[in-house]
Amino acid sequence: MWLLRTAKRVRAGRALQRGRYTCVRGYQHMLANMATDLYACRQMILATARLADAGQDIRTEASMCKLFVSQACFRVADQAMQIHGNVGVTKNHPVEFIFRRLRLYRIVTGTSEIQRNTIAKGILRPREAA
Ligand SMILES: Cc1cc2nc3c(=O)[nH]c(=O)nc-3n(C[C@H](O)[C@H](O)[C@H](O)COP(=O)(O)OP(=O)(O)OC[C@H]3O[C@@H](n4cnc5c(N)ncnc54)[C@H](O)[C@@H]3O)c2cc1C
Repeated sequence: MWLLRTAKRVRAGRALQRGRYTCVRGYQHMLANMATDLYACRQMILATARLADAGQDIRTEASMCKLFVSQACFRVADQAMQIHGNVGVTKNHPVEFIFRRLRLYRIVTGTSEIQRNTIAKGILRPREAA
């Protein structure tokens, strides 16, 4: 929804600013990065959910998801804010609101540093004999 709105803005920009193609191309690359981040987030979460459904221990993967998704979504919000310019930083504008909310997710339910501690512990743990 959010990406769609931004994409429409980019399309409108192309119609209005034919001479500023480079700027539009820059937006397109940002949107491509944002979509790629969101795709990676979804796939990570789905892969981890499949492991959980299979009854596997997902402590390491769950922390990887929390770390990656909270950082990637913040990057997406940051780029959306950049694309929207002045409007995006206006207090309580949807983009500003989402940006501010997403920043919290690198802290709540375990900070990024604590997720890294858990991941390191998981990957350095001696493997159980099969
Ligand atoms: C909006 C919001 C909602 C919240 N909701 C809840 C809730 O519903 N339930 C709940 O229980 N808590 C909740 N919290 C608390 C949240 O879980 C904690 O703020 C978070 O775990 C960080 O703890 P702290 O604030 O005490 O920071 P600290 O533990 O003091 O950490 C400060 C900094 O040091 C780093 N750090 C600390 N220990 C280590 C370590 N061993 N290794 C590396 N780095 C480390 C942290 O990553 C962080 O960057 C909420 C917080 C916020 C902001």
